[in-house]
Amino acid sequence: SVPLGYFAGIGKASSKGILVKGSNYLEAISKAKVVLFDKTGTLTKGQFEVTRTEPAGMSKDELLRYAAYAESNSNHPIAVSVRKAYGADIDQSQITQCSEIAGKGIKAVISGSTVLCGNSRLMADYSINCPEANGTVLYVAVDNKYAGLIEIADMPKEHSAEAVKMLKNHGVKVVMLTGDNKSAAAAAAEKLGITDYYAELLPENKSEITLKMKSELPDNEKVMFVGDGINDAPVIASADIGVAMGGTGADSAIETADCVLMKDDPMQLADAFAISKKTNRIVL
Ligand code: ADP
Ligand code: MG
Repeated sequence: SVPLGYFAGIGKASSKGILVKGSNYLEAISKAKVVLFDKTGTLTKGQFEVTRTEPAGMSKDELLRYAAYAESNSNHPIAVSVRKAYGADIDQSQITQCSEIAGKGIKAVISGSTVLCGNSRLMADYSINCPEANGTVLYVAVDNKYAGLIEIADMPKEHSAEAVKMLKNHGVKVVMLTGDNKSAAAAAAEKLGITDYYAELLPENKSEITLKMKSELPDNEKVMFVGDGINDAPVIASADIGVAMGGTGADSAIETADCVLMKDDPMQLADAFAISKKTNRIVL
């Protein structure tokens, strides 16, 4: 049976906007020795601003229109931001096909043209040459021809750096895992005080790294993964403690998670660690 102290702990956590889906997870939180963070939407706000557009053979407006149409059915933070930058209504009847390729971008048929919109890996898959660019970049190709790039920038969440510092003070190893490119990852890591990070990861690579970290720790030391995205469900499942952002996170991530941060604030982990530690002290 479950000691009563855990119910008190779970109640206390919930009063702080932290949903813990079982006493075993509450017990495990303060035993986390490695905390792996997704970048976009987890440590950063996931609200990108378009900072530059560089069309090739079309106007800036046309480039943005293709991107917004391609992204019109995606919940990815990049998609939401591109639609916001475009501003105008989207005529869904013009979109006859659309598929999202995890960690890469979108392929869609818009007004009869095949449109690719995503990162350099997506372009490489279709043998489309594109220029190198710094930061987070969306490349667009129309009918197999490079059509331009859209540079976008995101900001760290208000308390992300503080959360990283808090975890490090607890003796936790903090690692950032991202599907974004190296220059965007390096810039974010620097702002957040993170020295360990992996970039250009596909969702399955995030799971592989999580499993490897688990295998390197003794049983009583745990690996936590904190993420928000649709693509994060598998990695959330592979961690000892899978944590999801509850406000903006994808339903699949929230469902799979062992613990949900309802305020989307990484500093909620400070409360989670404290409550877990206190409960273990009483119960164990
Ligand atoms: P992160 O690990 O930063 O949360 P994701 O795994 O969600 O990022 O995505 C990794 C990369 O894949 C993004 O930085 C972007 O380049 C590309 N990508 C993913 N989804 C989309 C999309 N809907 N549109 C364009 N690019 C995308
Ligand atoms: Mg993400």
